[in-house]
Amino acid sequence: MRNRIALTLSTIFVCSYIIVSAQEIDPKLTEVWEPVPEVVTPGTNDSAPSDAIVLFNGSDLSAWQNPQFKGEGSTVQQVKEMLEKLDDNFDHPEAGWVVENGEMVVNPGNGAIETKETFDNFQLHIEWQSPVMEGKEGQGYSNSGIFLMSIYELQVLNSYENKTYPNGQAGSFYKQSIPLVNASLPPGTWQAYDVIFTAPEFDENGQVASPAYVTVFHNGVLVQNHTELQGPTVYRGKSSYVAHPEKMPLRLQDHGDKVRFKNIWIREL
Ligand code: MG
Repeated sequence: MRNRIALTLSTIFVCSYIIVSAQEIDPKLTEVWEPVPEVVTPGTNDSAPSDAIVLFNGSDLSAWQNPQFKGEGSTVQQVKEMLEKLDDNFDHPEAGWVVENGEMVVNPGNGAIETKETFDNFQLHIEWQSPVMEGKEGQGYSNSGIFLMSIYELQVLNSYENKTYPNGQAGSFYKQSIPLVNASLPPGTWQAYDVIFTAPEFDENGQVASPAYVTVFHNGVLVQNHTELQGPTVYRGKSSYVAHPEKMPLRLQDHGDKVRFKNIWIREL
């Protein structure tokens, strides 16, 4: 009996002590006042926020140029060779795509275009439209691509009632990551990607120290959730990382189809 009373009293004492102690902690101790976030004025209707770099506003291709290489590497080895041949002094021709109705259009045969500026970590907004192409199917129906850092492809394809391998449909990282859902709209309709990209990091030996991560919303729907990329996009074989500069251009693919783009802006993170 005596033991039970002692136990009850000690329990009351401990509980009282915890309550009193909790009340004595100043709530101001957990208020963090620095750093103060920079003020950014949001855009309306997906237009650029005040701190974004506008890459295409409908008027011209002044932020773009033809890259040194028209196409993309088919294998990891080819990507490696292209990266090794990149020449900082290359005299880039002007971007050879077409601007009409405030939109930029793939000019089949010209090859890809790339931004003049280079980026590492970023938030990207880009809108695109697949042309209606009767009789086309699979990878042949309105194919383009948004190559983050020039070598990591977020697929652009008509994937509305158009069957293909899911790791090659719209919203996929080509041959690496199937989108969580298919949020595609019909061809002839404007669609949007919002992308958050974390660039990979390499050690002094060229080995990957931290892989690339990417989150993508397709028409406002989450399709890639902090997806870890395995390396650059390749058509043949499995990918693995190839060391590259800390910052690289954004690249848009010419896959032979007249895909349209508009309202492109990027925020460096
Ligand atoms: Mg593509």
